[in-house]
Amino acid sequence: MKTEQGRTWKNWAHTFESHPEKIYYPSSIDEVRTIVKEAAIEGKSIRVIGAGHSFTRLVESDEWLISLDSLSGIESIDKENDTVTIFGGTRLYYVGEELGREGYSQENLGDINVQSIAGAISTGTHGTGLQFGNISTQVVKVWLITAAGEILPISKTENAQYFHACLVSLGTLGIIVKVTLKIIKCPIYEYKSDQIEFSILKKNLTQLIESNRHFEFYLFPYSDTVQIKTMNVSDQKPKRLRLHHFKNLLLENYLFFILSEVCRLFPNTCRFISRLSSKSVGRTSISAHSYQLFATPRIVKFREIEYCIPLSQLLPAIQEIRKCIEENKHKVHFPIECRMVKADDLWLSPSYKRDSAYIAFHMYKGMPYEEYFHDMEQIMKKYDGRPHWGKMHNRSHIDLYSLYPMFADFLTIRNELDPYGLFLNGYLKELLTEKDLMETPKSSIGTI
Ligand SMILES: Cc1cc2nc3c(=O)[nH]c(=O)nc-3n(C[C@H](O)[C@H](O)[C@H](O)COP(=O)(O)OP(=O)(O)OC[C@H]3O[C@@H](n4cnc5c(N)ncnc54)[C@H](O)[C@@H]3O)c2cc1C
Repeated sequence: MKTEQGRTWKNWAHTFESHPEKIYYPSSIDEVRTIVKEAAIEGKSIRVIGAGHSFTRLVESDEWLISLDSLSGIESIDKENDTVTIFGGTRLYYVGEELGREGYSQENLGDINVQSIAGAISTGTHGTGLQFGNISTQVVKVWLITAAGEILPISKTENAQYFHACLVSLGTLGIIVKVTLKIIKCPIYEYKSDQIEFSILKKNLTQLIESNRHFEFYLFPYSDTVQIKTMNVSDQKPKRLRLHHFKNLLLENYLFFILSEVCRLFPNTCRFISRLSSKSVGRTSISAHSYQLFATPRIVKFREIEYCIPLSQLLPAIQEIRKCIEENKHKVHFPIECRMVKADDLWLSPSYKRDSAYIAFHMYKGMPYEEYFHDMEQIMKKYDGRPHWGKMHNRSHIDLYSLYPMFADFLTIRNELDPYGLFLNGYLKELLTEKDLMETPKSSIGTI
C-alpha cells in the first residue's frame, strides 16, 4: 500500500496545514480495516482526507491521515431501483460523467464537483432548490469501518439506529468506504443567469424560489443589482458547453482574479469593484445535461463562512446584511451567495427539520476577513443560523447543543462506535466533547 511520511498536507483554501506522521492510500476495504486496527494497537488517531475542500480544521492531524483517492470508482448501477454504489474516495465529477454516460445523474449538486462523495456527505454539502435536500439525503446506504476495524453496513433497514447520525458525521463515527445513492434519469436543464434590481427580488422572492427547480441569487455589496441563476427542465437539445465554460473561466475566474488583486492592494476600491462586477453579470441562457451545469471551476482562492437559517427568515436577514455592510463600510467585493434547501431528518444536518436558506460570505485570500465574518456571523446567530460544517465558524460545543436538537444523541452514538476517540483530532474534541474532560489547549479554539 502506498504511504507517505514527513509530508505537509494543506487544504484547498490553505486555512490550515497538517504534519502527519504518515499518510496512507489504501486501495481496498480490507486495507482500510488493517490500518484502523493497527492505529488502535499503536494508540494513533486517524483523520480521513476527502478532497481537502473544507475550510475548517476537520482533517488536521499530527498522527495518521488516510486518503481514499485509491479507493474510488463506481461499483455498480442498479437500473431497476435507480441507485448507484460507489467507493468513498470517488470524486463527484467522476460520478457525474459516468452516470451521464448511462443516462443518469445525481438530483442535485453544489457549485463545484471536485469533492469526494464521502467528504461531501460528511459535512452536509448542498446545492440549491427547495425540492431537494443536501447531498447526504441522496444516500440510501453506507458501509462504515468502525474504530474496531469492523465493516458496518448502515441503511434504513440495516443497523438503522445509526442511519440518521452517520450521514452528516464529519468522519467522527468511522471511515465511509462505500455509498449507495439514489439517482434520477438525467434531465436536460435550461440554465439562465440574469440581473435584477434588489427591489424586484424582494417582491418576487417567494415566487422565484417556488417556481424554479433550482434557484439561487448573489447579492453584491454596495449594489442594488442582484444576479439570479435558475435551472429548469427543458425540452431543448443539449448544447456544447465550450463557449459557456470559456466565458465562465474568463469572467468569473481570470477577470475576477485581477479585480480581486486590485481590491487586495487597494481595499478602498472594493465598493467600486463590487458595483462594477454586479453590472457586468452576464445575461445567459444555455441548455445541457444537468451534471454539466451545476459546477463551475473555482480558481480564485478565498475564505468562507456559510450559515443555514430558516427559509422564512431569508428576506429580513439579507436586508440586515446589506445594511450592516454599508454602515460598517466592510471592505468586501465578493458577492454573497444565497441558496435554498429542503428540510431533512439527518441529526447534524444544518437543514434538520427546517426548510432552509444558506447564505455564504466570502473574502479574497490575503484580505482581512475577521471583522466582516464576525459581523455576518452575529446576524446569522440572530436568525438561529446553523454553520456549514465545512466552512469557517466560531460556534462552540455549547452552541451546538442548542442548534441541533439531536446533538446529545449523536454524541452517544459517537461514543458507542468510537469509545477511545480514534477518529478525533484536537479541533473535533473541542467541538464535540465536554470541555472539562479535555486536554486540548485553548489555543485550538476558533476557526475564523
Ligand atoms: C471552492 C469551494 C466550493 C464549495 N462549494 C460548496 C457548495 O456549493 N456547497 C456546499 O455545501 N459546500 C461547498 N463547499 C464545501 C465542501 O463541499 C465541503 O467542505 C466538503 O466536505 C468537501 O469535501 P471533500 O471531499 O473535500 O472533503 P474534506 O474537506 O477533505 O473532508 C470533509 C470531512 O469529511 C470527512 N471525510 C472525508 N472522507 C471521508 C470518508 N471516506 N469517511 C469518513 N469521513 C470522511 C473528513 O474527515 C472531514 O471531516 C465548497 C468548498 C470549496 C473550497
